[in-house]
Amino acid sequence: MPSFYVTTPIYYVNAAPHLGHAYTTIAADVLARHHRQRGEAVFFLTGTDEHGEPVADAAHAQGIEPQELANRNAERFRALAPRLGASNDFFIRTTDPQHMAKVQEILSRVRENGFVYEGTYEGWYCPRCADFKAENEIEEGKRCPIHHIELVREQEENYFFKLSAFQEPLERLYAERADFVAPRSRYNEALSFIRSGLRDVPLTRHKLTWGVPVPWDDEHVFYVWFDALLNYYSALSYAKPGEDLTEEFWPASYHVIAKDILRFHAIYWPALLMAAGLDLPERIFVHGYLLMDGEKMSKSLGNVLDPFAVIERFGADALRFYLLRDVPFGQDGSVSTEAFEQRYASELANDFGNLASRTLAMLVRYRDGVVPPGEPDPALVPDFDGLSTRVEELIGNAELTLALEEIWQRVRRLNRYVEEQAPWQLAKDDSRAGDLDRVLGTLAEGLRVITVLLWPYLPESTERLLDALGAGGGALDLSLTGATLGAGRIGRVSKIESLFPKSV
Ligand SMILES: [Zn+2]
Repeated sequence: MPSFYVTTPIYYVNAAPHLGHAYTTIAADVLARHHRQRGEAVFFLTGTDEHGEPVADAAHAQGIEPQELANRNAERFRALAPRLGASNDFFIRTTDPQHMAKVQEILSRVRENGFVYEGTYEGWYCPRCADFKAENEIEEGKRCPIHHIELVREQEENYFFKLSAFQEPLERLYAERADFVAPRSRYNEALSFIRSGLRDVPLTRHKLTWGVPVPWDDEHVFYVWFDALLNYYSALSYAKPGEDLTEEFWPASYHVIAKDILRFHAIYWPALLMAAGLDLPERIFVHGYLLMDGEKMSKSLGNVLDPFAVIERFGADALRFYLLRDVPFGQDGSVSTEAFEQRYASELANDFGNLASRTLAMLVRYRDGVVPPGEPDPALVPDFDGLSTRVEELIGNAELTLALEEIWQRVRRLNRYVEEQAPWQLAKDDSRAGDLDRVLGTLAEGLRVITVLLWPYLPESTERLLDALGAGGGALDLSLTGATLGAGRIGRVSKIESLFPKSV
């Protein structure tokens, strides 16, 4: 059985979960669910990054130990995943003892392989990024390009990772694998950073104690980024008690990340894996930022798109749909509460919700809920031809917004079909009973197909709908092989409460 392994970045516990975290987790979840529909063995990982100076500083400012702060905030991230409808198979914490032991093992191997040496590092350091900044990326006034706070000149005795040794191997990797990083603009960005010349980077921190201890020198802990990156590998070794999943799932199929951590994932990470003699991930997909500047205020949500407020009121599916529908996945885009409410009303409630309720209601009213057997209407068949293959191809390339658009065109096509055929007219004329059978049967089947295809995006509402479509007994098949018109066998349906009520 083919395997598919998808990850989110592990989220840093010095701040509370926000919309950006929700976005990445939702996108990774769509990939995971889609690949389960292909019949693949899927492993979906998310978790928290808990070491490093920012966590230690934030804890001490509150007068508590770093572990206490990490425990408290990790719980908030752990609780976020199910609220989003995320189907992650494991939640890793970098303070897990098994992870820490694996970090020590792999980085010791990197040292044994000759890619670690001792030296003095001096540079401009951002305590919020926990990262030194290269001269060419520092903002005016010696400020962090991300946090805009003043950088600190730091000098310390360190162990270094010989990143420079991977200049050529990385250039070769990028030449051989044009899809290693997507979208293309991010691939180019990473490649030009490599070509600008790679310098060695600190692997350890001397003064810090909040981190994974360096086994060969107890005055050092590992630099938080190397500790964090290794989560993708370490998790497989202990996620399932008594079993090591590394062989089945490594290398990762997709790392989904945001663009601010591109360099660590697209350059440091493959270099580190090569240094350890491990296989490289297949792909890294970099999504853009959700921008909330200058938005108009909506009627009910106020003016900040707070994921928790949206979920509370409209459900997780509505948030999942909106984020992947409104902002082309891979690009930056504006989000607003006003745009959210528009999409909700016009697309979820009207296009999809109405299609579902009126199709089911007509089947119940005109045919007692029994779906008339027969071939799908030739008037509709061409519009569904090749749809599931196209969706598979797009989601296979993490084109989540384009795939959703393909499906949505068919939602709209089915609505037009209802208007064209006017089943309520056919129902008035007994001599047209055969036509009404054909129309109702085709509608049920079309609705089933789009419901199966929408499941990764709208898991909760599509499962409710599939229950109603499968009222004859037995859960309906979610697999992609059944997502073609005429492939299903719906017997009986039942009515359904509005999937996306207009007044919430
Ligand atoms: Zn910074």
